[in-house]
Amino acid sequence: MRRLLAGSTSTSAADALLWHFGKRYGIALSRKASEMTKTAVEGMNLLVTGAQKSGWGMISVQNRLDSDGTVEVVFENCAFCEGIHDEKGPSCYFLAGILSGIAEVLFGDGYSARETKCKAVRGDLCSFLVARF
Ligand SMILES: [Zn+2]
Repeated sequence: MRRLLAGSTSTSAADALLWHFGKRYGIALSRKASEMTKTAVEGMNLLVTGAQKSGWGMISVQNRLDSDGTVEVVFENCAFCEGIHDEKGPSCYFLAGILSGIAEVLFGDGYSARETKCKAVRGDLCSFLVARF
């Protein structure tokens, strides 16, 4: 999808569009999860379970909100960059947007997500840092 959008606009415009689409989707998902759970952690766990069942990859979460105010989310076998190789930088903008929307709803204003490692660049996982940047 990123390459199709980039072909008719530019890579940076495609990345921005995908990030914003993802953020709106993440906000909607986490509002629903918040209605079904009592705490942000329960909401996060519900979303992780749903994402794994939907085939987004194997997801692990390191919740460090109480120590340094961050959460690390790692996707093994990330579905969003499957088949993409040799990118110069992280390419999962849609997923980063989703996580940013979720973080904003569950953890509060100012939280967003940045992809720090991407399978499309090298390795076999995508990792996101959620924090107040
Ligand atoms: Zn990635």
